[in-house]
Amino acid sequence: MDTLTQPRSIDDGMTARVAAFLERSGAIKDADRYFYLQPTTGPVNHRVTMVDGRELVMLASYSYLGLIGHPAIGQAATDAIERYGTGAGGVRLLTGTADIHERLEARIAAFTGREDACVYSSGYVTNIAIITGLMGPGDLVLMDKLDHASIVDGCLLSGAKWKTYRHNDMAHLERLLSEADGEYNTVLVIADSVFSMDGDIMDLPKTAELCQRYGVRLMVDEAHSVGALGATGHGIEEHFGMEGAIDLKMGTLSKSIPSVGGYLASSHEIVDYQRHMSRPFIFSAALPPAQAAAAIAAFDVIEAEPWRVERLHEMQIRYAQGLRDQGWDTMHSETCVVPVLVGDEGKTMDLTRMLFDRGVFVCPIVHPAVPRGTDRLRTCLMATHTDEDIDQALGAFREAGEALGLI
Ligand code: PMP
Repeated sequence: MDTLTQPRSIDDGMTARVAAFLERSGAIKDADRYFYLQPTTGPVNHRVTMVDGRELVMLASYSYLGLIGHPAIGQAATDAIERYGTGAGGVRLLTGTADIHERLEARIAAFTGREDACVYSSGYVTNIAIITGLMGPGDLVLMDKLDHASIVDGCLLSGAKWKTYRHNDMAHLERLLSEADGEYNTVLVIADSVFSMDGDIMDLPKTAELCQRYGVRLMVDEAHSVGALGATGHGIEEHFGMEGAIDLKMGTLSKSIPSVGGYLASSHEIVDYQRHMSRPFIFSAALPPAQAAAAIAAFDVIEAEPWRVERLHEMQIRYAQGLRDQGWDTMHSETCVVPVLVGDEGKTMDLTRMLFDRGVFVCPIVHPAVPRGTDRLRTCLMATHTDEDIDQALGAFREAGEALGLI
């Protein structure tokens, strides 16, 4: 037994927790149903190479526009390494803010149609930074039940009270807003633009209208909508034709944008405040210059190569329809995130195994990531998927689904 798993007098809880995990993961591995941390090599694009040399159709990546490995983006990163080296050397507030960071923030502000933007070292940290920076004890956050974990963690750290409304249930949000009226210093509504496990879209028109009516601010997490929603990939406001509806726009640089980091785009005042008052900006190192350069180049590519967004939109319709024609339940997906509902953990794992054996890389999502009985595969499309990739994936789903009696 590993020394860390040996009980000590004051950490029995830790030992029990680790042991319970090892027992569960061991059973999954023994049953040949372990699909996490799959060893791959080379860039992630519409196909991915496993370390054993097999090439699989990739249906588990958030790189919706297939921009990893794009020559102009790679070149921008290489040039930045030559000019700035590999690290930022500290926090921007104290070590100096490189011109490349300022250019990235100006590029994000232009792309999102906001006065200013502030970047952080990851999307996860960005949600923590925004919520802990702007909210505190005596305040209330109202969030969709399916919002990302980083929003929940931000609320926990902020000391604000937080409540969830039923997924996309605007009547429930309205009830919570009316109950909150006059009870708190500040009320903030937060929703994901595209829900990453279900592939459906927040009701921006109604949410924005309620926020206006009750005089509260709206924050939207655009992790899965930048590059994926709107005719030119500019996100949820473009999708609904509602430019300016969101007060605090949060996004990541790790999904359609093939880099790492996250941002808040908003007014000059709020962004300036966040640059001086949000703890992850002050106490965590700045984004490496090469990643900033890659992100700037990626925003340029999204606008210069509109075929990518068009192709993604075409493909998501054809692929989701293909699955539904075979008899699969794709839930309420309206985007390039297409869940395939199975409803049983064991069968979800069996389906995953059969798809892997047929050359398709998918991601099983089981309890506790989703409620029991809604175990699923979460599949994601990319602009670079070819017709052959989609045909191969649909063929594999049909064969596996019939063999397992799921369709
Ligand atoms: N928000 C949402 C909705 C996400 O799905 C994710 C990542 N899965 C994040 C925030 C965190 O982003 P990052 O991976 O860039 O830290």
